[in-house]
Amino acid sequence: MAGINMRHIVKKYGDGFPAVNDVSIDVADGEFMILVGPSGCGKSTLLRMIVGLEDISGGDMIIGDRKVNDLAPRDRNLAMVFQNYALYPHLTVFENIAFPLRLAGASDSEVNTKVREASKTLELDEHLDRKPGNLSGGQRQRVAMGRAIVRDADAFLFDEPLSNLDAKLRGQMRTEISRLQKRLGITTVYVTHDQTEAMTLGDRVAVLKRGVLQQLASPRQLYANPGNLFVAGFIGSPPMNFLPATVRGGQVELPFGTVSIPAEKVRDVPEDKLLIAGIRPEHFEDASVVDDDKRGKGSVFTAQIDVTEWLGNQAYAYIPFEADETVKAQLTQLERDLDGDTMRNQLVVSLDSTSRISEGDQAEIWVDTRQMHLFDPETGDNLT
Ligand code: ATP
Repeated sequence: MAGINMRHIVKKYGDGFPAVNDVSIDVADGEFMILVGPSGCGKSTLLRMIVGLEDISGGDMIIGDRKVNDLAPRDRNLAMVFQNYALYPHLTVFENIAFPLRLAGASDSEVNTKVREASKTLELDEHLDRKPGNLSGGQRQRVAMGRAIVRDADAFLFDEPLSNLDAKLRGQMRTEISRLQKRLGITTVYVTHDQTEAMTLGDRVAVLKRGVLQQLASPRQLYANPGNLFVAGFIGSPPMNFLPATVRGGQVELPFGTVSIPAEKVRDVPEDKLLIAGIRPEHFEDASVVDDDKRGKGSVFTAQIDVTEWLGNQAYAYIPFEADETVKAQLTQLERDLDGDTMRNQLVVSLDSTSRISEGDQAEIWVDTRQMHLFDPETGDNLT
């Protein structure tokens, strides 16, 4: 096995905007690394450069201790795990797994040993005589991984392997891949546009936007400390709320009133400047269900509730507000970058199931200002 070091990798197609722009990522030996970002951010191009299916315009690609820039894909000893349909329907599970060994001219006894070993690890040993058509989605995925295992590849590479599956199967497969990767301890790079997949699978996640690496961190760090507005908006579901904010006298003015914030959060934040506050829905609560201890660690404001949605174990309340034009313009741009929705003029607040807040109420809402982020509207940088 081996680590993968991407050093200042650039990919240019013609004279256009670089598809990958000076990206450096070190994937440790045995690590599960996710490349994530919206369509066109360059994640597939980066993966294809690791495998060798795409030339590198600049920088160095190092696998183990070898620079592989000019090596053909077959000489890189990597295994790309394709989606289900890459299996041969007329071959048994055994022969599907054996395929790369047969291609390499392995002896029958070597094929037999390796396929049986891999199928045991993958819990496929009882299905070796079946054809792919008679397997579940999860079993098919394991056959695809079996093929990669028998090759003793240095790393596994996945390009959106679950994107064609329905939501339920996708969830199952995610667990399966995660379990296998941990058991095999093999270096893995996995491309997806789905932030849930990224957050649940990766040891670390590299977030890309228009060819540029935005942040490389563990899922927890990305969630708790997004480096900029883009990462903050991309990670988390429902998404983070963004609203205009100004710091004055160490307190934060929001459209609903002024809230107190721990002094260390705003130490490096300029005062009297229009900023964008970012707060996740789950960092609000109906103030009447918050105990005194918790209440003191945040701040309370009063707001007019527009709509509520009850989901059983929790509820969401929607609170309209007026956004400043500068903030609106920045959020419109963010929405384009994210290829999706950002709420520009309503706050989404998560409420405990015991909350009695309903539509039309003037309600007291508690906000955990320890979890509030303040972003520079020009650069998008997180200042907190
Ligand atoms: P998606 O999820 O839609 O596949 P992606 O994040 O994987 O997106 P890439 O496929 O890596 O993005 O593409 C990055 C950029 O490079 C895009 O702007 C794309 O149009 C461009 N690009 C990709 N392949 C080529 C090519 N062969 N020729 C020219 N431009 C290309």
